[in-house]
Amino acid sequence: MGASIGRKILLELKLSLCRSLVSAALLVGLCEASLGQGDADLEAPGLPAFAATLTSGATLFQNVRIFDGKNATLSAPSNVLVKDNIIARISVSPITIEANANVRVIPADGRVLMPGLIDAHWHAFMAATPQMLLMTADSSYLHLLAARQAEATLMRGFTTIRDLGGPVFGLKRAIDEGVVIGPRIYPSGAFISQTSGHGDFRFPFEVPRVLGGSLSHSEVVGVAAIADSPDEVRLRAREQLRQGASQIKLMAGGGVASPYNPIESTQYTEAEIRAAVEAADNWGTYVTVHAYTPRAIRQALAAGVKCIEHGHLIDEATAKVLADEGIWWSLQPFLDDEDAPPLVNPVSRMKMQQVFAGTDNAYRLAKKYKNKTAFGTDILFDARLASRQGAMLAKMVRWYAPGEALRMATADNGELMAFSGSINPYPGKLGVVEEGALADLLLVDGNPLENIKLVEDPDRNFLVIMKDGTIYKNALPK
Ligand SMILES: [Zn+2]
Repeated sequence: MGASIGRKILLELKLSLCRSLVSAALLVGLCEASLGQGDADLEAPGLPAFAATLTSGATLFQNVRIFDGKNATLSAPSNVLVKDNIIARISVSPITIEANANVRVIPADGRVLMPGLIDAHWHAFMAATPQMLLMTADSSYLHLLAARQAEATLMRGFTTIRDLGGPVFGLKRAIDEGVVIGPRIYPSGAFISQTSGHGDFRFPFEVPRVLGGSLSHSEVVGVAAIADSPDEVRLRAREQLRQGASQIKLMAGGGVASPYNPIESTQYTEAEIRAAVEAADNWGTYVTVHAYTPRAIRQALAAGVKCIEHGHLIDEATAKVLADEGIWWSLQPFLDDEDAPPLVNPVSRMKMQQVFAGTDNAYRLAKKYKNKTAFGTDILFDARLASRQGAMLAKMVRWYAPGEALRMATADNGELMAFSGSINPYPGKLGVVEEGALADLLLVDGNPLENIKLVEDPDRNFLVIMKDGTIYKNALPK
């Protein structure tokens, strides 16, 4: 009797399981749309909507002189009409608007209008939060800190960042939906690293890894993806693409802050890097790699990589190869000055000195061979340093004219953003002031082409900050 009841229960269990599987499949079908973007209930009863989300429609900037992102001269006094999120018209003669049209007029009084700044190497999750906190705190707390920093980033005039590692898919979505304020984000998701590579931040006791075992903390959080073998690299790359990565970031050589690798080390094999390149290429995008040395750079190039991060220890021949092959070189002004990261580990400090020693040479070569050079800051683990994002750009005058540096952080970086091809999360032109471009604009109190130090103090000097046609700051005297 016991056995027959047992069978009956089993049968019922099977039936109900079957039914629930069918309904689960149906549900997935019905709810498909809600797995994507834009389905959150964004209303918070009792709270007013964000001021930023209220300002739709059109904006007319009257009497501006334009730095267009490309030419190192200002335009004649002009008028710029923004409609929705696009720069609709630029004209030296007055742009007339209908009397009752819903157009915000900004009398700029001859001030400079320029494209929003772009940081090609940023870590929205990690820029301003101390490393020890990142490794130990509750991740929901860390995400809230990142959201706060995203707003600060936009308020520094950086309307776009390319994120080169860290869990930012949720942050990007929340920004795009207007839940929180921040820049456009081109996410890489977790950076992919070999065991002992620049992205291996596990504690010494966490090896040997059990194949198929549980993930390490930084992998669970989504900062790093540790992968050894072409198959694992391919899987990890596809996981990032599945979540919305616009490009893939791989660690192809030694780094400063990572404990288990000499800076001279070459990481991964050509076959492993190529696995990521193929995965990215099949999605219409590219792989960029962290690499300082000629050997690490050359192995990555052989594997089909199209963008190099850092490269401070490059040699002349390799810089020329990058130029000849049209490879993007995303370089940062790392200098031994007041903004040098306060590293406590003596080995890391020594590695950092090596990088600092290479910075002048790297920029000299990038200029000599007219490399496709991107501007980025790669600020990590420090709120004060994060607040110096614009100051890092101002430092570029050590090697470039202000107009060249500003062009790099606007039009040139905009080109690199578009390099994510068919999966570009923000299709449209970024980094330029021209008709048809996306309306990311700064109104500057002064001429940054003459005095680039203006970008060091955005609170004071950026009077209007617009992203995607929405005004997030307007400090023009009324
Ligand atoms: Zn970085």
